[in-house]
Amino acid sequence: MSGPSRLSVRNIRKSFGTHEVLKGISLDAKDGDVISLLGASGSGKSTFLRCINLLEIATEGEIFVDGEEIRMVKKGGRNQPASQKQVDHIRSELGMVFQSFNLWSHMTILQNVIEGPVHVLKRPRAECIAEAEALLEKVGIVDKRHAYPAHLSGGQQQRAAIARALAMKPKAMLFDEPTSALDPELVGEVLRVMRALAEEGMTMLVVTHEMSFARNVSNRVVFMREGVVDSSGTPEEMFGGGGSPAFRQFIGHLGPA
Ligand code: ADP
Ligand code: MG
Repeated sequence: MSGPSRLSVRNIRKSFGTHEVLKGISLDAKDGDVISLLGASGSGKSTFLRCINLLEIATEGEIFVDGEEIRMVKKGGRNQPASQKQVDHIRSELGMVFQSFNLWSHMTILQNVIEGPVHVLKRPRAECIAEAEALLEKVGIVDKRHAYPAHLSGGQQQRAAIARALAMKPKAMLFDEPTSALDPELVGEVLRVMRALAEEGMTMLVVTHEMSFARNVSNRVVFMREGVVDSSGTPEEMFGGGGSPAFRQFIGHLGPA
């Protein structure tokens, strides 16, 4: 009944020194799934995303991206990716959007967007520029293409960061609190872009505190607590009283969506 798995994570564990931050997390995102990852600060959400795109290396567990397993070897008792080439390839297949935008400040918006396609994917520049302009049009900032990031609002910078990630034609998009650094009046413009992406069928894993997004855009809600998946379900189940007591307390603290 379900489509192909874009992202499959099995029993991921991650320790920093003696501190075990992820204690066995599994998650499966099928094609077109939009999964909201919720949880208190420190519950391991960012670490989980960072393990998926290999910014951190999970201590244990298996990760499959579009069916391809990330191969690991043990070196001195620790996991290491078996192939840097595979790491680069997997990273190019996963678009990541951070809280802090992370645009290259010395490049224009257009240069930011074409950088990956031109230099990583080695695609023809003219073609990349045409695609980048279409993406910038789509996120509503094509008029800013020759501006530098510092001249854009936070909401515009984040939309540029989304366009930059999309320019790599990723298999899935990972968002880590994409609206948390924004002034409240700029949150909506970024959420609208994310909603449009979801409606086009992009597979998305979204760490967020925006309950309206979790409720109305995602098709699954995963609540993390202290390094484990405490509870998960459809938004209807989770927000309809079906989540664990800890989840209900969590959303109670945030107030009504
Ligand atoms: P969240 O994103 O849910 O707020 P994080 O994944 O950022 O949680 O952090 C989970 C825990 O892991 C925290 O206790 C944090 O201090 C710890 N942690 C995260 N990154 C590192 C690191 N690079 N080194 C040591 N501890 C870390
Ligand atoms: Mg975080």
